[in-house]
Amino acid sequence: MKKTLKQLAAWLNDEVPAFGDTEVTGISIDTRTIQQGDLFVPFRGEQTNGHKFVMQAFEKGAGASLWQKDEPNPPQDIPLLFVDDPELALQQMAHAYRSEHKAKFIGITGSNGKTSTKDILAGVLTPFFKVQKTIGNFNNQLGLPITILQLDEDTDVAVLEMGMSGFGEIEFLTKLARPHMTVITNIGEAHMQDLGSRAGIAKAKFEIVQGMSANGVLFYDGDEPLLKELVAREQNLHAVAFGLMPGNLLYAENIEATTNGSSFTAHGVIEGNFFISVLGKHQVKNTLVAMLISQKLGLNDDQIRASLKQVTLTDMRMQQVQGTNGALFINDAYNAAPTSVKAAIQFIASSTIRSEKWLVLGDMLELGPNEKVFHENLSEDIQGQEISYVCLFGPRMAYLYDILKERFDAEHLLYVKDDYAPIIEKLQQANKESIVLLKGSRGMKLETILKAFT
Ligand code: ATP
Ligand code: MG
Repeated sequence: MKKTLKQLAAWLNDEVPAFGDTEVTGISIDTRTIQQGDLFVPFRGEQTNGHKFVMQAFEKGAGASLWQKDEPNPPQDIPLLFVDDPELALQQMAHAYRSEHKAKFIGITGSNGKTSTKDILAGVLTPFFKVQKTIGNFNNQLGLPITILQLDEDTDVAVLEMGMSGFGEIEFLTKLARPHMTVITNIGEAHMQDLGSRAGIAKAKFEIVQGMSANGVLFYDGDEPLLKELVAREQNLHAVAFGLMPGNLLYAENIEATTNGSSFTAHGVIEGNFFISVLGKHQVKNTLVAMLISQKLGLNDDQIRASLKQVTLTDMRMQQVQGTNGALFINDAYNAAPTSVKAAIQFIASSTIRSEKWLVLGDMLELGPNEKVFHENLSEDIQGQEISYVCLFGPRMAYLYDILKERFDAEHLLYVKDDYAPIIEKLQQANKESIVLLKGSRGMKLETILKAFT
């Protein structure tokens, strides 16, 4: 972004400010990461008032700052843009910048796989386009407008993650970003607490189509009946299904895990063999939608195939780490919800890379009143599989432990409520025959365990 204060004021329907010709080149809400020329946006929170940091923002190079009109004692003689509500102003500016931007906007939501899909898609497109994407998890009502305002003017494709925890949030985000293409990666169980049921979750995600620009296309998980149902009800929606089941417009077969990634055969609107250096069937699904969008943007099958080979993913998502004990760790400790834990267990169980299989599972948080059942149900994914060792960590994993102890003896099953040390000690036993899955909610910080082996 490169705008004068005058232009920003026009976006906000505000009077021409003093210092109207001052130019800003980016946006920041945090003086610790502010860049030269950024517009600083202060918020009044419960803990702190961002206006206290405005002067510091200027010392660190801010080009200008917003200032909430009813905040007393604005500093004199520096470029301030006075607004009623900084958060609203941020969103309005993002909306205006989006409207005049030439990029193709892609909005991605879903219970799991948003960040993975975003990273795979951006990775495939990068050799061909100028691509910018949501940084980290900046996917809410603040993160999304910041992401949009940070887009360079010559960016061709903006890949935006949209997260939610209740109804109406995705609607808000999609209307802000007006995506040309949207994605619903899957429907899981996260946020059941607020949305009541999986059908409720599907409905909330489906809000993403409400903001699509004219001729927009929705790409959705066609293996999910709830989404199929919602699509069938829409008369004028251009919707494309992807998944692992035949019948989808693009689907994958013969998925094989190798030491450094997954190979698969694509069928449908793209045909042939592909390889990507990420693990797990669910990641192949994320890859399929990235392929579809790449095709829509003009890449041919060979370009997609070659580009997929060089994609790498962000840390802690099915990331392979060679441990000092010889074991191959699969670090998926970034987050956990029932669907993604099941997918990861299934990956480990079906993997042929190493013969001795370990699961290190941490609590799944934010599941609401049915959390006991969700934890217990994981036993179904573990029973009958060739899993050698299971280590469980966290108070909620006691539910799973109660069931698994019927099947595993004490040598092969370990439960600890709040101490990593016994698990680290147990893992000394793992060796070059072992593959170890680390999977738990963010709050469980299972990567702490990995640190002992790297
Ligand atoms: P968040 O809501 O935390 O931002 P996200 O939707 O961005 O999550 P990712 O960070 O990509 O999701 O992945 C989270 C977890 O879900 C990872 O453990 C990953 O392996 C798993 N996962 C990724 N894609 C899928 C999918 N399509 N289906 C099920 N699980 C998935
Ligand atoms: Mg994410």
